[in-house]
Amino acid sequence: MTHIVPFYRPEIGTAEIEEVVATLQSGWLTTGPKVQQFEREFAESVGARFSVAVNSCTAALHLAVESLGLKPGQGVLVPTLTFAATAEIVRYLQAVPILIDCDPMTLQMNLADAASVLAGARPPLPNHRREDVPIVGIIPVHVGGCMMNVDEIRRVATAHNLWVVEDAAHAYPAAWRPDATSPWTRCGERTSDVSCFSFYANKTITTGEGGMAVTDDEALAARMRMMSLHGLSSDAWGRYSGGGSWDYRIAAPGYKYNLTDVAGAIGIHQRRKAEAMRRAREAVARRYLEALREIEELELPYVDPNCLHAWHLFPIRLRLERLTVDRATFIQLLGRSGVGCSVHWRPLHLHPYYADTFGYKPSDLPAATSTWPRLVSLPIFSSMTDFEVDHVIASVRAIISAHRPEMVAMPSQSTHTHRANAR
Ligand SMILES: *Cc1c(COP(=O)(O)O)cnc(C)c1O
Repeated sequence: MTHIVPFYRPEIGTAEIEEVVATLQSGWLTTGPKVQQFEREFAESVGARFSVAVNSCTAALHLAVESLGLKPGQGVLVPTLTFAATAEIVRYLQAVPILIDCDPMTLQMNLADAASVLAGARPPLPNHRREDVPIVGIIPVHVGGCMMNVDEIRRVATAHNLWVVEDAAHAYPAAWRPDATSPWTRCGERTSDVSCFSFYANKTITTGEGGMAVTDDEALAARMRMMSLHGLSSDAWGRYSGGGSWDYRIAAPGYKYNLTDVAGAIGIHQRRKAEAMRRAREAVARRYLEALREIEELELPYVDPNCLHAWHLFPIRLRLERLTVDRATFIQLLGRSGVGCSVHWRPLHLHPYYADTFGYKPSDLPAATSTWPRLVSLPIFSSMTDFEVDHVIASVRAIISAHRPEMVAMPSQSTHTHRANAR
C-alpha cells in the first residue's frame, strides 16, 4: 500500500547522484579515495581524531566491543528499549547483554536502574547475583536523536571501571550540554570510547547501508580498521587504497565490514547537508509539538533545551486508558488515512530470544513493558512538505476524537479521596 505520507523518504540530490556516477566511471568501486574523504570529513565534523567507515552501524558496534577486548561471559549494560543490533553484537562475542529499563519520560536507558544493577541492588540477570557477572561496559543509545546526559554516563562508567560505546545510530548530527551556560559537545566528540553512527536507508543521513565508528584512541581505531578487513595487518591496506601490495599478513580472524566507494560517494554529500536536513526535521517536530500538545490522549516526545536534537524519530505515546482503540488499531487507522508509521521498539526482554535465553519476564523491566504497547513513531524526514505534516496532524486528531470514551472522565472526586486515603 502506498501512503499519502510515507514513514520515511530519503533526500538524495543531484550531488550524490553525480558523485556516484563519477565513482562508477572511475573504475574504483570498493574502499578507496571516496571512503577516505568521507571518513576524514565525518571525523572533523564531530570533532573526533579517528574514524573507520564500515558497511553498517551494527558492524561499527561489533568492531568497537571487539577492539575493547570484550570476552565471553562478561556483562555489558544495554537498554532494553533499543534495536536488535545494540545487544546482538554483545552476543557475537559470547558476552551477556544486561538489559536496563527505560526512563518513562525520556525513553532513554534509566541510569538509576543501571546504578542499582552495578551496586548489586537488583540482579544483573534473572536468577543471578552481581558477583556472577563481571560487568565491563555500557552501551547507551541516544533514542530518537536526543542525547543522554553523557557526563552522568561517564560518572557511572568511571566509578565502576566500565568502557562506554555509544550507539549513536540516531545522533548525527546531535549535541549536548550540561546546562544552558555550557558550550555544546557534539556526539562523537569524546562523548564515549567509541561512538557508532548508522547510515542505513532511513537514518538521519544515508549511504543505503553504512556506518562509522569514531574514537580519539589510536589503538582502538587501528584495531577496528584491521578487523574491518579480514584482520589483515595494517600495511596490507595499501592493497585497497591503491598501494598495490600483493603480499599481506593475517594478524587476526577479522570480518568483512569495509564500506564501498560507491556508498562513500553518497555519504560525502549526505554529510554536507546533514545540518540542513536536521533543521528541516526540527521544523517538522516543532509543528507536531505545537499542534498535538493540547490532545490529552497523547504524550509527546521529551524535549530538552540542553539537547541539540537530531530528530530521527518522533515517538508519541497513547494514553490508552483515555482511548477506545489500542495501538495496533490506531496504526491501522493511520494507515487507512494514508499515514505510514512505525514502532520503536518492542523491548528486547519481550523478544523470544532474550526471554528464553536469560529468563526475562515482562515484570523484570516494568517501565519498558508498560511503555511498549503505547508507542507509535510518526513520520519525520527532511523533505516532508507542509501538506504532509498537516495531513499527519489532521489524521491523528480525527482518529483520537473518534475514539474518546462516551463519558469524558472528569477530574474525579474518587481519585482525590483515594490519594487522601493512601496517605
Ligand atoms: C538502525 C540502528 C542500528 C543499526 O544500524 P545499521 O546501520 O542498520 O546496522 C543500531 N542501533 C539503533 C538504535 C538503530 O536504530
